[in-house]
Amino acid sequence: MGNYDLSRPVVARVREAADAVQVIGEVVTLRKSGRNWTGLCPFHGEKTPSFSVSREKGTYYCFGCKKGGDVIDFVMEIERLDFAEAVERLADRFGVELPAASEHARKRRDEAEVLRDVMEAAQALFLRRASLDRPRAFLERRGVTLEAAADFGLGYAPAEWRALYDELHHKFPERSMIAAGLVIEGEGGRCYDRFRDRVTIPIRAIRGNLIAFGGRTVGDDTPKYLNSPETALFAKSQVLYALDRAARAFAKSDRAIVVEGYFDCLALHLAGFTETVATLGTSLSEHHARELARKVPRVVVCFDGDAAGRTAAVTAVRTLLAADLDVAVLLLPEGEDPDDVVRRAGATAFAGLVDGALPVGEFLVGQLGRGRQERRDNLLRVLEIADACPNPVRRYALREALAQAAGVPTEQLGAVASPRVLAADSAAVSFLPPGESALLRAILLDLPREERGAAVAAVPVAALDHPATILIIKCLSERVERGAPLEISDLASEIDDREVRRILAALEHEVPPTGVEHLKLIMRGLCEKQRQKRLADLSLEIARAERQNEPERLAQLLHEKSALIRKTTRS
Ligand SMILES: [Zn+2]
Repeated sequence: MGNYDLSRPVVARVREAADAVQVIGEVVTLRKSGRNWTGLCPFHGEKTPSFSVSREKGTYYCFGCKKGGDVIDFVMEIERLDFAEAVERLADRFGVELPAASEHARKRRDEAEVLRDVMEAAQALFLRRASLDRPRAFLERRGVTLEAAADFGLGYAPAEWRALYDELHHKFPERSMIAAGLVIEGEGGRCYDRFRDRVTIPIRAIRGNLIAFGGRTVGDDTPKYLNSPETALFAKSQVLYALDRAARAFAKSDRAIVVEGYFDCLALHLAGFTETVATLGTSLSEHHARELARKVPRVVVCFDGDAAGRTAAVTAVRTLLAADLDVAVLLLPEGEDPDDVVRRAGATAFAGLVDGALPVGEFLVGQLGRGRQERRDNLLRVLEIADACPNPVRRYALREALAQAAGVPTEQLGAVASPRVLAADSAAVSFLPPGESALLRAILLDLPREERGAAVAAVPVAALDHPATILIIKCLSERVERGAPLEISDLASEIDDREVRRILAALEHEVPPTGVEHLKLIMRGLCEKQRQKRLADLSLEIARAERQNEPERLAQLLHEKSALIRKTTRS
C-alpha cells in the first residue's frame, strides 16, 4: 500500500505528462526518424538501432527483443522499480501532484507496519530457541544441518502455551499479535500461542519481507504442518515458499521445480536444486502460475508419489499450461516424497530424474489410461486440460498427441489452426497470430473511427486464438456498448496488463497497416473457422447424444448441424 492514490485517472495523468522521448532519451541516444525516434535498444545488445519511441503515443518498442510498452513500463524495466515506485518517480519528475491515499488506506498501511514488526519479533524469539536440543535433534534426523537451518531462518516455537505471548505483550497490543496470526484468543478471552513445540519456517514474500510462518510439529501433535492463517500480510494462494531465493537461480536453471512441502523444498535446496519452490498446503493457484510464468519458461512439477499427489499434479499441470508455461512432471515412486528421494538417491541421481521428467504431452497421454476404449472415454476430460493452453502451437501439439493415442483423427477434436500456418508463425509465438494482429491493427488504427464499432461487433470471438486478442476485443465491445471511443491509448490505460500494452505498442510500431480488402479476408477466414469449430463440436456432441440415447437433444443437434452446412453452400 503506497502513500498515494494511484487510481486509474491519476496514473493516466502521469502517463500523459511524462514525455517518453525525454525519459527514454536519458538512457538511450535517440534520433528522429520520420514520426518516431530510434536508438540502440537498452534491453538487448545490438549494433544497429531497432528500438523505436513514439512521442505522441508515449510508447516504445524494440523490433529485436520485442520489449515494449508505455513510459511507466520503461521506467519499471530499466530501473527495476515496481509500478507504484515508477509512477511516483515520473510524477515527481514531471510535476504531477499525486493525491494522498485515503485515510483508510493510510491506516491499513500503518497496521501492516505493526504486523511486520510483530512478525520480526516473533522470528527473533524462534531463532533464539533454535539451538535447544529438541529442535536440533529433530532437524538432524531430517538431514538439515545447523548451518542450513540458520541459512533458512528455521527456528523453534517452545512447547509452553504462552512463551511468545509473554515475551511480546509488553511491546505490542494483543490485537496485533492476533492479527498477525501468532496468537489465538481462546474462550474467555485468554490468549495462547498458535505455534507450540514446532520447528518454525519463516515464509517470505518475493522481496524478502517476512509474512508468515510454517510450523512442523516436533512431537506427535496434529496437524503435522501448521501455517499462519490468512492475514493482512499473507494470502496463501499468492505465495510460493522460497520464491525469494529461487528467483535468483532461475536465470541459470531456466526452470522452476515445484514441490508441495517445506521440507521437500529445503531438501532440494540443500542438494543444490536452488530453483525449487513449494506451495503452502494449497493447490497451485493461477496466481502462482502467473508469477512463475513471469520468471521462467519451464516448470517441473514434483509432487508426492501417492494418490493425492498425483491428483494434485494433474490440477497443477492444467494451471501451469493455462499460464503458457512449458511443463514436465516428475512422478515419484508410490509412497515417496521428494525429500525421501533426494536424500536416498543423492543429488546426482535426482538431477537425472528431474532432467528425465515426463514432458507434458506424455504425461497427458498417460492420463488417458491404457486400452483404446478407456482412452476414448477419457479423451474429452484430458483434452480439456490441453485446451487450457493459450499458445496455439503448443496446444495443437498436445491435441495431436492425445488424438493419436486415442486413435481418433485430430480433425474430429474441433478445429484449431492448421499446423503449417502455425509452424510458419512459431517464431512469433509470443506475439499474436498474423491474422489477429492485422485485425486489431485495422480496428484500432486503420479503419475510419465511425466504422470501428461495427467491425468490433462483427468479430467472431470464438475463432480467436490468442488470449490477448480476446481480451482486447472484449474490452472494445464493452466500450462500444458504453459509447466510449475506441482509441489505442484509452485501451492501454483500461487493460491493466503489461503483455497487452506490449502488444498494443507492437501494433503501432511494427505491424503494417491493414487494408480494407485484407480485413475482409481475415473476417471471412475467422467466420469460417468459427463455423468449422462449431461443426466439430457438434459431431462430438452428436456422438455423445447417440451414446446416451437422448433423441430430443440429438434431433436438435442434427438440425443445427445441417443448418450450419447449408450456410456455406449458400455463401
Ligand atoms: Zn531490444
